[in-house]
Amino acid sequence: MILGHPDFSVSPAGLHPSGQSLFVHFSNGKILLNKNELPLWKAVQPSLPQNFLPFELAHAGKTAIFSAHPYTELIIPEKDGLRYQSVDIFRSMPLEQASLIASCLHLWRWYENNRFCGRCASPLMPDPSERALRCTACGNLLFPAIAPAVIVAITCGDRILLAKNHRHQHYALIAGYVEVGETLEHALRREVMEEVGLEIHDIRYLGDQPWGISGSQMFAFHAKADDTKPIRIQASELKDARWFCREDVEPLPHKVSIAYELIERFRDGTLEEERE
Ligand SMILES: [Zn+2]
Repeated sequence: MILGHPDFSVSPAGLHPSGQSLFVHFSNGKILLNKNELPLWKAVQPSLPQNFLPFELAHAGKTAIFSAHPYTELIIPEKDGLRYQSVDIFRSMPLEQASLIASCLHLWRWYENNRFCGRCASPLMPDPSERALRCTACGNLLFPAIAPAVIVAITCGDRILLAKNHRHQHYALIAGYVEVGETLEHALRREVMEEVGLEIHDIRYLGDQPWGISGSQMFAFHAKADDTKPIRIQASELKDARWFCREDVEPLPHKVSIAYELIERFRDGTLEEERE
């Protein structure tokens, strides 16, 4: 299941809260939910301060998503089904809600991390007509940052190369950020060479997904490498990397990611088929 809501948009549309509007609130790595779902505006409104002004964060088709103004402190009392839960809960939610939460979190963190102008250090304010921050003193305009990243399923015949990094328990695909001046393919070749010391060939683009959790856009590829060549792991990044036969590959624990999709396509044999 690949994240990415087809109707999601962050462009301000001048919407006002209505019966079906949603309310999103992040606080200290947690998100406010109503019985494990994104709450409706009307469920949260009675708990908001009297002078509260809703901020139009995004919309998905006709469903507007409101939040607090990015630079105000707000804690909503947990009652009547409203609870703050770890944002990681999006991984086990239906795809549509998971996509909204991940992208709203991306935008929310961008606001949190950009309060002052980098040019003149004056306060930044949300622009009313476009999704941007404007400096109140010098007019500097900032747009939301998206970090491009690449992820690759490397195969050789019936085997796939998986790596385990120092932070995670499971084996996963090689991935990394694109650096300034690189093409996606250049980034892919560099990451694989740095992390496992292998040359890749027959590179094929498979698709992409927004990954708001790290503020990035993941571009997914299939590539081939020679499994007789030695693997040289980058010890600062990886604990281990090795080739796995199809029947030895376990599904990833969380379904909502392009990495899960790539591994499942390898497991059921469709990763190769689509090349023909
Ligand atoms: Zn400025």
